[in-house]
Amino acid sequence: MTALLFRDDPYQAEAEAVVVGHSAEGAIILDRTVFYPTGGGQPGDSGHLLWEDKKLPIATAVKIGSDQIGLVAAEPLLMPAVGTMVRQVLDWKRRHRHMRVHTALHLLSVVIPLPVTGGQIGADKGRLDFLMPEVPSDMQAIEDALNRLIDRDLAVTESWITDEELLANPGLVKTMSVMPPTGQGRVRLVRIGTGSGQIDLQPCGGTHVSRTAEIGRIALGKVENKGRQNRRVSLSLVD
Ligand SMILES: [Zn+2]
Repeated sequence: MTALLFRDDPYQAEAEAVVVGHSAEGAIILDRTVFYPTGGGQPGDSGHLLWEDKKLPIATAVKIGSDQIGLVAAEPLLMPAVGTMVRQVLDWKRRHRHMRVHTALHLLSVVIPLPVTGGQIGADKGRLDFLMPEVPSDMQAIEDALNRLIDRDLAVTESWITDEELLANPGLVKTMSVMPPTGQGRVRLVRIGTGSGQIDLQPCGGTHVSRTAEIGRIALGKVENKGRQNRRVSLSLVD
């Protein structure tokens, strides 16, 4: 299996690793990686690999099977052989913007407390689809509330609980906006704010900034109709 370095430290932008295989599609599998693979609405990371005097640009990362991650080369250049020690380097600017947009979407689900039916994260903007029969009359007030939460500079922290702990604490599920999937043995919870200042708790496997002020200014876009009950709300990073 590939060790998920981005899960332990989303701010780690470089790491050494060993090539342990290549997928049938030609992706490079490392023993450990800082590259987040496409999933949960968040794009796979890009960057490059370095070894000896070679540099291979990486376009994205993907999940392979249930427990491996493959790095997809951006150009059909020479691939590092199995056993090669490589240095992996993220396109940190792009990944950090994903982290800002991703964390902003958690806050969007706080200021619009409606069921979420889908979402997508990008480097400049992101969106959530809500079960929202009526468009809120004052979107500016929602944008202002979102930016106020950002300004509170709330801590973003995580904890892990077992499926058993989750099932034994129904009150915990009630405080979450999404019922986490069980069956993996444990669930990762992402919390925004602490103690009585906690404003959000939900299961999530993505990468987040550590404090909300790091998101920066957010602007909401126009609400789009996506079917009779569904509305799409987009947000973008202003800077
Ligand atoms: Zn998340």
